[in-house]
Amino acid sequence: MTTPEHWIRLARHSPLGLLVDLDGTLIPFAERPDLARPPEDLVDFLDALASSPGITLAVVSGRLRSEIEQFFGRARSLWLAAEHGAFLRGDGTWRSILDTDGSEIEDLHVTLAGIALQSPGALVERKSASVAFHFRRVPRQIAPTLRVEVEAAVEAWLASHAGYERMPGAEVLEVRPAAARKSAVVPWVRERAGAQARLVALGDDVTDEDMFEALGAADEAVLVAPSVERPTAARWILDGPAETIGFLRWLDAARAGAAPGPPLIPRPIPRRAPADADAVAYGLLAISNRLPGPYPKGTPELDRKRQVGGLVSALEPVLAAREGLWLGWSGETSPGKAFGPVRLSAGTRPVLASIDLPSKTHQLYYGGFCNRTLWPLFHTLPGRVRFVDAEWEAYVEVNGRFATAAAELVPADCAVWVHDFHLLLVASELRRLGHRGPLGLFLHVPFPGADLFRLIPWADRLIEGILEFDLVGVQTDYDVRNVMQVVGAVTPATVSDDAVRYRGRRIGVRAFPIGIIPETFEVEAAEESEETTALLGSVEGRRLILGVDRLDYTKGIHERIEAFGRLLGLFPEWRGNVSYVQISVPSRADVVEYREQRTRIEAAVGRVNGEFGEAHWTPVRYLYRSYGQAELARFYRAADVCLVTPLRDGMNLVAKEFVAAQDMERPGVLVLSRFAGAALELTDAVLTNPYHTDGMAKDIDRALRMPAAERIERHARLAAAVQRTTAPLWAEGYVAALEACRGPR
Ligand code: UDP
Repeated sequence: MTTPEHWIRLARHSPLGLLVDLDGTLIPFAERPDLARPPEDLVDFLDALASSPGITLAVVSGRLRSEIEQFFGRARSLWLAAEHGAFLRGDGTWRSILDTDGSEIEDLHVTLAGIALQSPGALVERKSASVAFHFRRVPRQIAPTLRVEVEAAVEAWLASHAGYERMPGAEVLEVRPAAARKSAVVPWVRERAGAQARLVALGDDVTDEDMFEALGAADEAVLVAPSVERPTAARWILDGPAETIGFLRWLDAARAGAAPGPPLIPRPIPRRAPADADAVAYGLLAISNRLPGPYPKGTPELDRKRQVGGLVSALEPVLAAREGLWLGWSGETSPGKAFGPVRLSAGTRPVLASIDLPSKTHQLYYGGFCNRTLWPLFHTLPGRVRFVDAEWEAYVEVNGRFATAAAELVPADCAVWVHDFHLLLVASELRRLGHRGPLGLFLHVPFPGADLFRLIPWADRLIEGILEFDLVGVQTDYDVRNVMQVVGAVTPATVSDDAVRYRGRRIGVRAFPIGIIPETFEVEAAEESEETTALLGSVEGRRLILGVDRLDYTKGIHERIEAFGRLLGLFPEWRGNVSYVQISVPSRADVVEYREQRTRIEAAVGRVNGEFGEAHWTPVRYLYRSYGQAELARFYRAADVCLVTPLRDGMNLVAKEFVAAQDMERPGVLVLSRFAGAALELTDAVLTNPYHTDGMAKDIDRALRMPAAERIERHARLAAAVQRTTAPLWAEGYVAALEACRGPR
């Protein structure tokens, strides 16, 4: 059947149920929700369509009941759902499906309103039982930081309010009762329309996906968007609100038997359903906790730019060249205990497959076992580690779900490349499901020694899981030695320099140091912006020391600020002559340790500036925000010294980016922690111990005084090292080694 035939048949089906979202689907978005409203003739048309025999037409909106009533109240044939289905109006009267009056959300409303007051453009909307924070008019520069702050407040509130959930939408973050979902509208309409009814749902937002997923096999979902930019359950697409209305008018005419003329009907979204995945020769599956884009609507531009870093640009070409697929968490959580279905993006290369995780499980798995057990332990910070049984159980469960999703998606002989410490148990589960193809793991984080690893109550389960892979890749030879030490301590396996023999199998264990794409940091790429010009202008005439990190306690930012203060104490000649600019990118602000870290760092900045600052000189300039790649390149290039001093780090790409951005005739000096993976390659940096404040202060002094000839010589060797292990070489090298693992196990 052709597409027009399909739609004519569906349009003429009786009974027919239509579920149509409002904002972005029937009417375009405006700067503020109160400026967007449906015109009168649209209301009249919808009302007339709703009164045609055999039709049930419901407008399904996230807006307040009072607004929906104001817009559509007079349209007596229309069915209405407000606040994502919390309020329904079938035959004339509204009813609520909630068992709460929503008063408990008032304290969150007060908190968010307080944040909005201090943020230009931010808007907080209080609905009956929910609160929405709108980012649409927030200036680009402050949006990422504001988002982190809002997320943190929301996560903190949700932790003590079980019946609620967060719902990110188009440039908005909403918190609402978990029972209020657009999916609830589907059975309501079906009941009215009758068992024989077919339904068509149209929507543009992530909140509409829920409605799409609740549809039956004979129903259709239509995404309203110029292109498919995120995984969707819809099979069809229409460009925008004008097309939605055109389509509804066409449908009205088609029902009346009129020759429909050139049809304004949805186009099919090309997709490969999991069911026919076996028919597609996928050559490689990558799995990581998070996916790269497509980005949910409202993702700040800077976050998008940030993600265009090493991993994504390295992986995309190897996947695209092999008809590859990339599986990860969608970024969305669902209420209850059930995991979401696998959804495929359409039209992206590589194809992206995503799953939603149940909210509570996700919290235990990610916020718990990943971030509070494995992350600090693998970074050699046992004082920060905690072991909680429920978090371990959630980790096992989520790993199991990733494995079943993978088995659904690719044939049993496909090569699978799993990324990082979040997913150490995926291979054992995949083998149990009958997977025969090569399975590889790459750890982006460091691997701890046996004394530390054996602290984990489930150390043997984790190691057994890791040894189900055929290839275990780590960042450095030092990590290889640690893996071997742990395997030797925990299992009866035999270890050699680059392989483990266990239960008749050979498991390769090798270093694949990750790199960058050096050209993207070379100076031609550097971008002037008001912000970079102003900041660099403000330090003019002084030597510039730079730090660029995610705000993470592993990065040693606090220790570094203390060392800078010590430098000013030990070498007073630098006072007034150096400026230290520290860029800290907001990260995991929903985790309490990260919030504490931020406070600690800010206090240290205050102390150093208070002690040494003068009327015309602020020793430390601290920026809690993120920059795009080109802006960073300009900062790197302008810096005399870059401080990359993590307490422990898998690799550290900032170190390599700084080297790539230098002017080879007048290069700056890299002061690099001995405990960053990069230190094993960048041996010509000034290597330092971030735990030793006096030593680090002296190393910074040495870097500031280094003569030009020495700087040039060291930089030339550093630049050569950066060129040796670029991101594309890393990805190709790993996949080639993984493919070489094929053969009898
Ligand atoms: N980065 C960025 N914008 C910023 C600060 C950092 O895009 O304002 C990027 C930086 O270019 C680097 C990455 O974030 O590619 C940080 O990687 P790294 O390996 O240094 O640390 P991670 O955050 O992965 O632990």
